Amino acid sequence: MNQQTLSMRLERVAAQVPAGARLADIGSDHGYLPVALMLRGVIVRAVAGEVARTPFQAAQRTVRENHLDAHISVRLADGLGAIEAADGITAISFCGMGGETIRDILQRDWARLSGRERLILQPNGGERPLRQWLMEHGYRIQHEEVLRENRFDYEIIVAEPDGPVRYSEQELYFGPLQLQARSPAFLAKWQRRLRLKQRTLGQLTQARQAVPEEQIRALAEEVRWIDQLLA
Ligand code: SAM
Repeated sequence: MNQQTLSMRLERVAAQVPAGARLADIGSDHGYLPVALMLRGVIVRAVAGEVARTPFQAAQRTVRENHLDAHISVRLADGLGAIEAADGITAISFCGMGGETIRDILQRDWARLSGRERLILQPNGGERPLRQWLMEHGYRIQHEEVLRENRFDYEIIVAEPDGPVRYSEQELYFGPLQLQARSPAFLAKWQRRLRLKQRTLGQLTQARQAVPEEQIRALAEEVRWIDQLLA
């Protein structure tokens, strides 16, 4: 993977960035996503935010080598601290971080958002709490997809401030649009998850004395939901 040839995961994220966007890519690491989108002429300006020095320097290098210093600002910053009002950001991507981490950054830095940005999220797990935060903050999910690459199931969630919106517990768990579309990748992901969760439930039930009842009950509920989904 490089700034010309993105992974399939980042390619699917890139497809959700509107033409003409001013993008902030938070946790940009190497900076491949904003650089690729700028080279393709999809976006007009970008901020690549990184909290860690080594990936920050990698992003600086990618931007410099592609002569994009005038169009992409690489900033060493925690979360949305990378964005300034003058950037006029219209879309924000968070890719390859846990869903809870993305939620915590959004929650903490909520005041830094203009309230108009499209959020393009590719959480590594923790999708349910992330969707919960989106719902509670008036974001409607506009697009969702599941893809499999290198033996990992990845989810992409795109949301815009278009609420209020109400999702059921199952919609928060599976994704409201995924539940409707039931794509082959989505169903295959949940078939794999079901096997894992059934095995864990069996183990927890055997060790019942040592496991909080609430934990077993919550897992049993998940297994029931997945069973119903696949029935
Ligand atoms: N976005 C790239 C991708 O999807 O290929 C890189 C993903 S990498 C696994 C996650 C990156 O997020 C790391 O480089 C890490 O330093 C950065 N990160 C984690 N927490 C962050 C935060 N609070 N603010 C900015 N960057 C953060």
